[in-house]
Amino acid sequence: MSLAATMSARQILIVEDEKPIRDMIAFALKRAGYDVQEAGDCRAARNMLADRRPDLMLVDWMLPDMSGLELTRQLKRDAATRELPVILLTARAAEADKVAGLEGGADDYITKPFSPRELLARIQAVLRRSAGSAGEEQIDFEGLELDKASHRVSAGERTIPLGPTEYRMLEFFMSHPDRVYSREQLLDRIWGGNVYVEERTIDVHIRRLRKALEDTGHDRLVQTVRGAGYRFSAKAD
Ligand code: CA
Repeated sequence: MSLAATMSARQILIVEDEKPIRDMIAFALKRAGYDVQEAGDCRAARNMLADRRPDLMLVDWMLPDMSGLELTRQLKRDAATRELPVILLTARAAEADKVAGLEGGADDYITKPFSPRELLARIQAVLRRSAGSAGEEQIDFEGLELDKASHRVSAGERTIPLGPTEYRMLEFFMSHPDRVYSREQLLDRIWGGNVYVEERTIDVHIRRLRKALEDTGHDRLVQTVRGAGYRFSAKAD
C-alpha cells in the first residue's frame, strides 16, 4: 500500500455494537474506497478519535455505554471535534427522534434497515456539505494557497512540494494564524493525543517546512517564539 493512497482515502469511523451490522457497513465502505475504523462502544470511539481524526463518523443511536445521541452532543460541544460530520444510525423511525438527533448536532440521520447504496449516498452528501460549509476548501495566506481537496500548496505559479506531515502542519498553521502553540499543543493537534512522538520531532518538521517555503520567502511566516513554541504570522515580532 502506498503512502499516497493511505493519505488520500477518506476515513470513516463506525460506532456500532452489533457486529453483523458493523461488518456489513465496513464491507460496503471499504469497497467504495473508504478507510474504515470500527468501534463497538463510545469509549472505544473516543480512544480512536484521540489517535486520528476521521473525516466522518457513523454513530448508532443504541450503544452499550452511552447513547449515540449523547456522544454526538459531546462531540459537537467540543471545539476539537465540532466540525466532524456525524451521521446517526437508528432503528427509530419516529419524527420526534429524527428532530432530537438533528438538534443534538447530527449532520444527518439514517433509519435501519438501509441499503449500502443509500448509506453511501448520504455519506457523500454530508462530506460534500461539510466541505462546503467550512467554506475553506482553499486557504489563502500572504500569497500562499493551500488546497484541501488536492493537498496542494502553491505560491503564485509555483507548486511547493511538501511531505504529508509538513502539509498537515501547514494546514493547521494556516487555519490558526497569529497564535502561539507549544510543541505539546502542536503534537496534540497535528499528530493526535495518543500518538507517542517526541517533542523534538516537531522541530525537525518545522525545519523541513521552513526549507520548503524558503524559495518563495514564506519561511518568515513560521516563527519561533522563545520559551513558548511556534507561531504562524505575517507580522514580525
Ligand atoms: Ca446498537
